[in-house]
Amino acid sequence: MRRVTILGSTGSIGENTVDLIARDPGIYDVVALTGGRNVTRLAEQAKQLRADIAVTCYPECYQQLVDLLSGTGIAVAAGRAALIEAAQRPVDWTMSAIVGAAGFPPGLAALAHGTTLALANKESLVTAGPLLMSTARAHGATILPVDSEHSAVFQGLVGEDISAVERIVITASGGAFRDWPIERLADATLAEASSHPNWDMGQRITIDSASMFNKSLELIETKEFFGISPSKIEVIVHPESLIHAMVGFRDGALMAHIGPPDMRHAIGYALHWPDRRHLPVARLDLAQIATLTFRPPDEQRWPALRLARHVMEIGGLSGAVFNAAKEVALDGFIAGQLRFTDMAPVVERVLDAMNADNALHCDRVNLDTVHQADQVARSRAAEAIAQRNEAH
Ligand code: NAD
Ligand code: MG
Repeated sequence: MRRVTILGSTGSIGENTVDLIARDPGIYDVVALTGGRNVTRLAEQAKQLRADIAVTCYPECYQQLVDLLSGTGIAVAAGRAALIEAAQRPVDWTMSAIVGAAGFPPGLAALAHGTTLALANKESLVTAGPLLMSTARAHGATILPVDSEHSAVFQGLVGEDISAVERIVITASGGAFRDWPIERLADATLAEASSHPNWDMGQRITIDSASMFNKSLELIETKEFFGISPSKIEVIVHPESLIHAMVGFRDGALMAHIGPPDMRHAIGYALHWPDRRHLPVARLDLAQIATLTFRPPDEQRWPALRLARHVMEIGGLSGAVFNAAKEVALDGFIAGQLRFTDMAPVVERVLDAMNADNALHCDRVNLDTVHQADQVARSRAAEAIAQRNEAH
């Protein structure tokens, strides 16, 4: 039996992971499942997969989860410390699918017992890529990318030497506002930003797709995971979302990974790696698709891409600051406090202010310095939002 844990099991990636695991009864011993406020769903999953423990990150949801699981023999816990404790339970495979920087500490804790970490939580690599990668190395743990682009690149590199790679091209659908006139973007509503043309994902990443903050996180993720120079990483807008990424080699070959927009492919690849098993994803009918199109990314429409280049140049704590400020700006947009087009300026302002304070450079990037930078960036971003609202 393979022991597995799913961090963030009630989310979009979590549900897809549960779906794959539930299809193979008798193969997996499910240790921990974690979620947030949706304890009804968490309890259902825990019963279905016969988990050892179910954890909600919210202490106020503890009693409800206890009631839902009473008599099942499934242990229940709540809060951040419980999340870490659950992640530390020895398993063979852990899915890291919590959204945001909150997913970083549990993922890091899981690496300490040498698990294979299937990493959907790209924010971990953006926030503290070198720390995450060195922790994995120190404990003999393996990190497998689950982001569709990074899974595609990873698959394109099997049997290849990374030094022969000339370029990595990650594709972007362009999100909800790809074809909108730029002048309209300032008035984009939450509902409009929350609908993706091709992918069915959690709300936060869907909005981040419209602003391309998602792609900017993925640029940094590519640099950190594959250890490749930013100058070799490109973004191309590909509205069909069928090619997920391409790897270009020094002999001129460009290997593309093509498949339907279904995260169960990348999740399943990470679950069965290094094997390939049958997966319940649609097979493409190329004759019916007929055409694949590409456009250059427009940095005026998507300023987040420019900010990501800046972050990759600076390094240090700038990824942690970038991500934290982005999370606060996104909260502001979701809460109706910030216009869609104000998110990037808020993030840029925080980066500039902390750069001016020399707070982005750091020789000792560890859990404490990352946490501190994250907290300062969050309060700076909240200030920037308040100032912006006063000015309007
Ligand atoms: P989601 O919002 O659907 O689910 C998030 C999960 O994390 C839920 O289980 C939720 O309960 C839990 N959670 C939320 N806040 C938490 C907190 N503070 N502490 C602990 N748990 C918390 O998100 P998602 O779309 O599944 O995305 C998960 C991660 O995977 C993100 O990092 C995202 O960028 C990445 N990702 C998602 C997709 C996709 O198709 N959804 C694709 C690629 C990468
Ligand atoms: Mg992606």
